[in-house]
Amino acid sequence: MARIHLDHNATTPLRAEAREALLGALDALAGNPSSVHAGGRAARAMLDDARERIAGALGVLEDDLIFTSGGTEADNLALFGTLRAADAGSAPRANAPAGAVARAGLVTTLVEHSAVLEAAHQLAREGHPVRFVGVGPSGRPDLDEVVRAAEGAALVSVMAANNEVGCTTDIGALVAALRERYGARAPRVHTDAVQALGKVPLDLAGAGVHLASFSAHKVGAPVGVGLLVRRDRAPLQPMLFGGGQEAALRPGTENVAAVHAFAVALELAVAEQAEFATRARRHVENLWMGVQNAVPGARILGPTLDDPERLPNTLSVLLPETDGRTLITRLDLAGLEGSAGSACASGSLEPSHVVLALGQGRAEARAALRLSTGHATHDAEITHAVEILSRTLGKAP
Ligand code: PLP
Repeated sequence: MARIHLDHNATTPLRAEAREALLGALDALAGNPSSVHAGGRAARAMLDDARERIAGALGVLEDDLIFTSGGTEADNLALFGTLRAADAGSAPRANAPAGAVARAGLVTTLVEHSAVLEAAHQLAREGHPVRFVGVGPSGRPDLDEVVRAAEGAALVSVMAANNEVGCTTDIGALVAALRERYGARAPRVHTDAVQALGKVPLDLAGAGVHLASFSAHKVGAPVGVGLLVRRDRAPLQPMLFGGGQEAALRPGTENVAAVHAFAVALELAVAEQAEFATRARRHVENLWMGVQNAVPGARILGPTLDDPERLPNTLSVLLPETDGRTLITRLDLAGLEGSAGSACASGSLEPSHVVLALGQGRAEARAALRLSTGHATHDAEITHAVEILSRTLGKAP
C-alpha cells in the first residue's frame, strides 16, 4: 500500500482540480496583471475572477482580499500592519519625552502558531505592550480573560482553530464581548483561520472579525500563496513597499496562476466542508480507538472527541514514556506520516509551546503525537494506519 499521510495540518496534497487549474494557467498566462497589453489584461482577468470566487466563497467583498505569500505573511501583516497604523494615528503620551508616542498594544494567546507568536515577541521587543493570555485544558483561552486583557489594546489576535490540538474558538463571541465592554473603543480583532478553512463552518462577516489569515496549501492549493481578509477597511499599513498591487498593502507582482488554483481549491474545500467533517470525525474516532488499544495509558491532548468546539480531523495524544520524535521515525519507516507537534516544532528538539501551554511538563510534552486527516484520506488508509499504530506503538519508545 502507498504511504499514508496523516499530517494534513502541516500541508495537504494538491487537489487534482487545483493542479489542473495551476498547470492550465501557467500555460495560458503570458503577461503581468499590471500591464495594459492583451497578455496583461488576460492575467488581470484571471486574477479578478479568482478574487471574485474567493470573496464569494468566504462571504466577504472582493476589495477585502489581500493576497500574500502564505499564512505566515498574512499573520505578520495583520499584526505589524495594524499596530503601525494605530501608532501612526496615536497621540503623544502625557509625560513622555517630546516626540515620543505611546506604542499600540496587542493581546494574543500562548498557543498561537509561531507566525503570530514570534511576530508578537518582535513587536514586544520593539516596545509595544503585548499580553499573552494562557489557555485551559482544551487549548482555548478564557474569552473573559482575553477581553479584560484587551483594555487599551489596538488589536486582539486569537486563532480560530489550533493546528496542534485542534480546539476551535468562537471568534464571533469574542468580537461581541469586546464590543459590549469597550463599545467604540473596542480593539480590532484578527484571527488566524488557516486551520479552520474547510474543516469547520466560517462566517467572517457574521462574526464581525476585522482581519483573518488563510493559507492556500492547507486546502489543497500550491504552497506559497496566502490571504489576509481585511473587513470594514480596518486600518492597516504595509510591511513591504513597491508597486501599488493589493491596494498598495502588499506590493509585488501577484502569483496569478497559484491564486487561480487557490480559488478552485478553496471553493471545493468550502463546498465539501460538512461532508469532510463527518468523514474526518469517524476517521479520528477510529484512530483514537487504535491508539488506546495499543497504549492503554494514552491521553487526548486538547479538546475531547465529543467537544463541539474542535477540528474534526485532528487527533493529538500524549503517549506515556514515549519519545515522540523516535516514534515519528518508526511510524515513518512503517509507512505512516504523522507529527510530533507542529511541523515547525517537530523539526527542533524543543517541546511544542502549545503542549507546554496546556500545562504539561517538558518531558511529557516530548511524548506528543499528532495525526491529522485530509480531503483525500479514505477509509482503507485509516484501517491500515490503525494496524501500523498497533504494531509500532506496542514497541514504543
Ligand atoms: N497559521 C497556522 C495556524 C498554521 O497552521 C500555519 C501553517 O502551519 C501557518 C499559520 C503558516 O502558514 P504558511 O505555511 O502558509 O506560512
